[in-house]
Amino acid sequence: MSVPFNNTYVQLPERFYSRQSPTKVENPGLIRANPELAQLLDIDPAWLSSDDGIATMAGNLLPEGADPIATVYAGHQFGSWNPQLGDGRAILLGEVIGTDGERYDLQLKGSGQTPYSRMGDGRAPLGPVMREYIVSEAMAALGVPTSRSLAAVTTGEPVYREETLPGAVLARVAKSHIRIGTFQFFASKEDKEALGLLVNHVLERHYPNAVEAGASSNSKALMLLDEVMQAQAKLVASWQMIGFIHGVMNTDNVLLSGETIDYGPCAFMDTYNPDTVFSSIDHGGRYAYRNQPGIAHWNMACLAQALVPVIADKEENAIEIAKDALDKFPAYFLDANVSGMQRKLGLASHHDDDEILAKDFLDLLEAHQLDFTLSFRRLSELSGTAPTANVSSLAGFPSAFDGWMARWKTRLDTEDNPTRQQDMLSTNPAIIPRNHLIEESIVAATTEGNFDLFNTLVDNLATPYDLTGVDVRFAKRPKPEQVVRQTFCGT
Ligand code: AMP
Ligand code: MG
Repeated sequence: MSVPFNNTYVQLPERFYSRQSPTKVENPGLIRANPELAQLLDIDPAWLSSDDGIATMAGNLLPEGADPIATVYAGHQFGSWNPQLGDGRAILLGEVIGTDGERYDLQLKGSGQTPYSRMGDGRAPLGPVMREYIVSEAMAALGVPTSRSLAAVTTGEPVYREETLPGAVLARVAKSHIRIGTFQFFASKEDKEALGLLVNHVLERHYPNAVEAGASSNSKALMLLDEVMQAQAKLVASWQMIGFIHGVMNTDNVLLSGETIDYGPCAFMDTYNPDTVFSSIDHGGRYAYRNQPGIAHWNMACLAQALVPVIADKEENAIEIAKDALDKFPAYFLDANVSGMQRKLGLASHHDDDEILAKDFLDLLEAHQLDFTLSFRRLSELSGTAPTANVSSLAGFPSAFDGWMARWKTRLDTEDNPTRQQDMLSTNPAIIPRNHLIEESIVAATTEGNFDLFNTLVDNLATPYDLTGVDVRFAKRPKPEQVVRQTFCGT
């Protein structure tokens, strides 16, 4: 079997999905395959890059054991309720048990229409597929829980948007594609049975150790909420630590597994400014950098509300219990955020003044319009003897930082930490997926069919903490004229 499928979601009742095969495409061509990820999935990397592998990733060939479905969900998009969404341009081929013992979904994105396509064509243009490949793999290398990219292929067919663009398909891997919106769909249908089944499915799959034997179904729902909140708090804190702005934190884009998904209008912040927002459709800045933790809390409230019917038998009790549970989210986030910032500053212990130290550094970055990533990287280099490949030519601190630097050094001296610099250099990346480079690679591929920059980006981003042998161009912040201020949804 080319892909060792072991499917469980299709064993849920049929109202959870529609059976749907991918639509064949004219002329599949490989953009890039991910041999390391293939190995994790017990898929032969040589097969993946073969004609059969490429045809499979394009949806032209169904491997043995695949049971393709489109899943149904609902969701709040920019705060507005949408009762009927679902995989409109994605098809779940099935699940695979990885060599790490974890279960993974294998999904094709851009593989044709499904019953949930509404007005859409079910297709994906090349640009968004490239962006998702680059950023999701970079996030994985940065240690952030995320969906992954197994392969990207061109379809040989045009996709019609405001302009005619080359079409592509992304083979996406995630621990599951179950979203807050999946729960919301069944809650809105008042389908308590489905909610209970989904609670069990998600707990077994993602939080098998959370539930004690014999736990009641009500307590299971509450445990699920708590686990998801903790995972989400950690996830969003990890985004804040690297300046990642998701851009569409709609409830249909929040996975219960705690992985990042849907790299549509996402981007990394260059100059530190917490009001940064990239998405062309986010006019109010709802999903700006500084709002991500608050929105995550809002999203958790949507999950809690969807779980109300299964949290307690009496609705008023359930609402009280859910509210109390939700109140824990800010502390979960703060915890993750404080310890994340501590690591970024090279601190192994916690002092009361550390939060102020961190805030003052960020305020200085903002006031002097410094680059978020390079500033923390430079700080790491200054914490000891700088490595040969360093960012000294790309980042520095004006004299306004002198006072802060002295405070930081004094604080560092309170700890005897021989691994500090190594820790800082493996916490603060030198290379992130810079928006201007992603855009440049998309233009080169779309207009000339040239994937050189795309491939170099993916290669360099696989080792984001190491500048050795890397052209400094990939670490540099954009020049003012290179800054890309807006990104567009991948639709
Ligand atoms: P997104 O904003 O990418 O999370 O997508 C929101 C919803 O729109 C999901 O249900 C998608 O499946 C659907 N959708 C987005 N683009 C397309 C498309 N080109 N064809 C069909 N459905 C789409
Ligand atoms: Mg989505």
